[in-house]
Amino acid sequence: MKMQSFLLRIVLCGALSCALPIIPKTDQITKGDEQLAENYLHNYYPDPEGTRVVRSINNNKMADKIRQMQEFFGLKVTGQLDSNTLDEMKKPRCGMPDIGEFRTTRTLNKWPRNHLTYRIQNFTPDMDHADVVDAIERAWKVWSDVTPLTFTRISTGTEDILISFVAGYHRSNRFDRSFDGYGNELAHAFYPTYGGDAHFDEDEYWTKDLKGTNLFLVAAHEFGHVLGLDHSNTFGTLMYPVYVPSNPQTFRLHEDDIKRIQYLYGQPENVNDVNVNYDDDQLEPSQFTTNSPSEEPSLNQCDPHLSFDAVATLRGETLFFKDSFMWRINPQKGNIEKGPTSDFWPNLKGGIEAAYELEDKDVLFLFKGQKYWATQANIIQPGYPKNIHTLGFPRSVRKIDAALFDKETKRTLFFSGDEYWSYNETQNAMEDGYPRDISSHFPGFSSTVDAALQHNGRIYLFSGSNQYEFDSKHRRLIGIKRNNSWFGCQ
Ligand SMILES: [Zn+2]
Ligand SMILES: [Zn+2]
Repeated sequence: MKMQSFLLRIVLCGALSCALPIIPKTDQITKGDEQLAENYLHNYYPDPEGTRVVRSINNNKMADKIRQMQEFFGLKVTGQLDSNTLDEMKKPRCGMPDIGEFRTTRTLNKWPRNHLTYRIQNFTPDMDHADVVDAIERAWKVWSDVTPLTFTRISTGTEDILISFVAGYHRSNRFDRSFDGYGNELAHAFYPTYGGDAHFDEDEYWTKDLKGTNLFLVAAHEFGHVLGLDHSNTFGTLMYPVYVPSNPQTFRLHEDDIKRIQYLYGQPENVNDVNVNYDDDQLEPSQFTTNSPSEEPSLNQCDPHLSFDAVATLRGETLFFKDSFMWRINPQKGNIEKGPTSDFWPNLKGGIEAAYELEDKDVLFLFKGQKYWATQANIIQPGYPKNIHTLGFPRSVRKIDAALFDKETKRTLFFSGDEYWSYNETQNAMEDGYPRDISSHFPGFSSTVDAALQHNGRIYLFSGSNQYEFDSKHRRLIGIKRNNSWFGCQ
């Protein structure tokens, strides 16, 4: 992040000074403080679009961000970099933003099942291995004590959550990140839909007590993010972004943290003493809190006759829908998960017939019969379902077989029967000259389409147990493969 910020600074400022004009010249604020404040606001108070690389050198925007930050921490709201504000910015803290997509849209971001595995990729030289394992275990226990969740450590195989100690610049999932050396940023983590990993800055001095940075306290906080929680502005909560050293032996989870995690996962299965009333009207218990044990699909992903109902991407993963189940492939982690569609969208109960993602808008569209839904992660957007005819299909179209979004042309192709339509996503309108005959525009394909996907410049049309791979631009047939090749079965 530092490197990106630095480069952008050069691009935006050229050879000119890029000092912040909002800082009164009379204040004893050093260049280093300015830089710190800029980085701090950039990292923890990112633009609402979530684009953390866009720098805000605009005065008003910067003052706005200072105000946001002052409000979050209960400081006097001045929009100025006064000394209290700077002091707060210098405290060691978590690297996740205090505002952002999960706060503003309240996207429910959770794991679709309750039994999760983790792997400790490497150990910090600061502590004995056994003490690291113990701190991590106790940090998970903080959350498993108040939810139906369980966490199992594995040392081989594919884990859900990878825990690593890294220093400086590093790459993970879809993100390049950088730790900042000793102090300030201590750790960061990824929300469930971004892979759920946790990174600890190796440049800190990690300890089992309070002589250095206590690993248990920081890990318990980061695991809150891994489970889908964002920061709380209530001092004393575990999800407060600033590291507050406190006796790890007498640690107790704040009621606010318990409420928030139970909002996502519900209460532990057979414990009565941690019931929390949902009296906060912002946090209503929802259908998500009751998790019925989910059946495993009887379908074998390596079955050579495997067919799909719908295929789509979602935040970097690929989803394969079949009956009431779906598989999720995370290309970075290389793991495949399967589970009931209703774990993700409790109101849909499966039977998805077509799906496509608009990555820029972070929306996934799901089609079933004449209805379709827009969802952001696993939250169905207000106003849905809508009728497919509102998209401009003639009355004769009773259902959509498959859909794909072509990133190059910004068109969505809808397949139904032996015809397809093209929808202009920029103008929100069906294009003239459609429907067209599928087989004459996808030479080599002469069937109906079960599912469709555009991926890495290729169009995939799934039909029966086979997928037809086309070059997106020229619609040239590249090859035909078994569907199960996505699962590495061949
Ligand atoms: Zn955090
Ligand atoms: Zn990282």
